[in-house]
Amino acid sequence: MGGRGSCYLNFNNSNNSTAGDVDITSILENTNEDKDTLKKYNGKTEKLKNKNIHIKESTDNLPEDVFIPNIKKIDHLTRKYVETSNILKAKNQEMAVRSDRLGTYTEACFISSSTDFSSLQIVLNKDLKHSNRKRVEENTQSQIDSGYWMKSDKDQLVNQTITHEFGHYVQRVLMEKDKQTKNGNKEYSDFISNVKNCTTPKQVAKLVRTYSEYKATKYFKQIQRIHRKEFGKESIEDISRYGRESNREAFAELFANLNTCKNPTSLAKSMSIFLDKNFIVKGPKVDRDRIKN
Ligand SMILES: [Zn+2]
Repeated sequence: MGGRGSCYLNFNNSNNSTAGDVDITSILENTNEDKDTLKKYNGKTEKLKNKNIHIKESTDNLPEDVFIPNIKKIDHLTRKYVETSNILKAKNQEMAVRSDRLGTYTEACFISSSTDFSSLQIVLNKDLKHSNRKRVEENTQSQIDSGYWMKSDKDQLVNQTITHEFGHYVQRVLMEKDKQTKNGNKEYSDFISNVKNCTTPKQVAKLVRTYSEYKATKYFKQIQRIHRKEFGKESIEDISRYGRESNREAFAELFANLNTCKNPTSLAKSMSIFLDKNFIVKGPKVDRDRIKN
């Protein structure tokens, strides 16, 4: 079993936190996934179940005034980016939203525990120091103030982490779409033949990370190209420090900024144009006349 993981780490403000690549294999080995049963469905969770997104009972550990807005946010994002749930349904795949112990500094992570990226999970840390919405908002705000996370509007602070994790999922959907092109299919076949030569799960995990980062870099370059064209800017100064650690995290950070801010950064607006081109996106498109100002 391989593991593609991008963890959204909590920054402890002391500059020595090891953000970026967490050892996903160890998270997968220690996971309680097998014991985690489906939550009873009602309202919002029922809607998500119909989109092949399954909420697990372990999320009962999370504070309700945080988790309910998170669920509503996922519902909103799957309606906006309709292709996300279309792909899950077309491939008869599921995504689980779970809670588990992820260590002190990991806020949440997105894991695909199979090399075809079919088994997906958003895992939220149940050891969170913050036990209610107010504390989550304060923590998120302090990460933003330190420049480590992207900006979110006040009423969306509670949803920043879940939106970031969903951003990793959007990257995976783009990768799935790429497989349908000749070049993308070759890249994937090459990746799979390399996986077959691996002898340890650690080697597989490394390959999965490299492949995923390679794809993220391709998408990020396209976003930067749009950014140059639309804004005449070269720089990436409006990406958080966390987003600068890898292009996978840059993608998720920009996605979080784009979907938790009424006025996102110019680079996040460029991502919006990129997603409009590559995705079925519902709702208003970016106003190109306005963004040049
Ligand atoms: Zn991440």
